[in-house]
Amino acid sequence: MPINRRNLLRSLAGTGAAALWSGVELDAYQSHVNTNSKPSELKITDMRIAVVQGAPMTCPLIRIDTNQGIYGLGEVRDGASKNYALMLKRLLLNENPCNVDKLFRKIKQFGFHARQGGGVCGVEMALWDLAGKAYNAPVYQLLGGKFRDKIRLYADTDSSPDTNVMAERVRERRDRGFTWLKMDVGVGLVSKTPGTLTQPIGLSQREAQMTQHMFTGMELTPKGVDMLAEYVGRVREKLGYDIPLSADHFGHIGVNSCIRLGKALEKYNLAWLEDMIPWQNTELWKKITDAVDIPTLTGEDIYLKEPFIELAKTHAVDILHPDLATSGGILETKKMADAIQDYGVPMAMHFAGTPVSAMANVHCAAATENFLVMEFHSADVPWWEDMVTGIPKPIIDKGFITVPSAPGLGVTLNDEVVKKHLHPEQPGYFLPTPEWDKDRTNDRLFSFAGAAVHG
Ligand SMILES: [Mg+2]
Repeated sequence: MPINRRNLLRSLAGTGAAALWSGVELDAYQSHVNTNSKPSELKITDMRIAVVQGAPMTCPLIRIDTNQGIYGLGEVRDGASKNYALMLKRLLLNENPCNVDKLFRKIKQFGFHARQGGGVCGVEMALWDLAGKAYNAPVYQLLGGKFRDKIRLYADTDSSPDTNVMAERVRERRDRGFTWLKMDVGVGLVSKTPGTLTQPIGLSQREAQMTQHMFTGMELTPKGVDMLAEYVGRVREKLGYDIPLSADHFGHIGVNSCIRLGKALEKYNLAWLEDMIPWQNTELWKKITDAVDIPTLTGEDIYLKEPFIELAKTHAVDILHPDLATSGGILETKKMADAIQDYGVPMAMHFAGTPVSAMANVHCAAATENFLVMEFHSADVPWWEDMVTGIPKPIIDKGFITVPSAPGLGVTLNDEVVKKHLHPEQPGYFLPTPEWDKDRTNDRLFSFAGAAVHG
């Protein structure tokens, strides 16, 4: 008789030994667990940092160590400070990293929109990596399994004022197998031509960059709109119309200029118009979205799921675009995507980090039904893939990443390569950080009422 649960229970029936089954089952389950690890006794002992430069962004990698020799890798959002993660260390020491959601809720008050969310999200990725390694399962499996085996990428492309150069750049990415492209259509492409852009006299570039779009007083003229549309048209002509082409970085022009430009671009069938105005302005976004028949998109600077859901519910934009290293990490991003799916809104993913953060995105994208496409910003960084091992190469094959099946995020750092690309002003490679072990602070989000408890 084969030994399985039914036969074992049958043979134990009436002996009283059936009650022992739960223990048998537990042992069987534990046999799948990483033999180096006993998950119930896993504890965080340290958090260490290595800051990579030129990937093409500056990306602080984090490593969370444990009492059982396994560690988790994560990554603070590109361009953010490593301290956003380190300041959380005191809240994580001695905790069990497998309690990912519990720890996320403990630290989430220390994140915020844009780069300020980077620490919380980097830690969350590292916790999933640890939970996966402890239970010997890839992260997508812990999220509920996958909807797809390969993740589609869109390739970001550096801008050039010369349409021939620009068309060549996007075509080269297409030839490399990318199935979705993105270009910039900024007012800077035409602003040197007189009569294209109306703006308050004396407004400096710095001032315009630091001021939200609605408050700069900058508006495109009909000539400016025509020139930008022609620019896109020439690129489209050379690239063809059969591949999605998204557009970003329009410049800080007012809502009416956005609408006039959007309408002029309709005939070039762009895949989306990105971040035309700041994400916070739901009603203004809706005005643009309702007026222009090209999908609109925002979200790379939103922290936590609620603002995404508000934008989806009101159909203020057509597509949401979280950066998983800002949006709250792997689970919060999946929860958000599941919620916006109910409003018929897809999720594209903004991403500009190393393969560590890329894998956090890949596992989330695999486990999320309404995923559309994920950004790849490093098509011109030859050592990008070399930063990691433990994953089949090339990682990016004809514009897709195959979802890894190794435990956790599924990548190990190649120490030699990462060490070669450390930020010269922050050269340490996962050095101890005892100065972040403690802090004297009261972090309560509700006031202390002095309640007495018995016992
Ligand atoms: Mg963008």
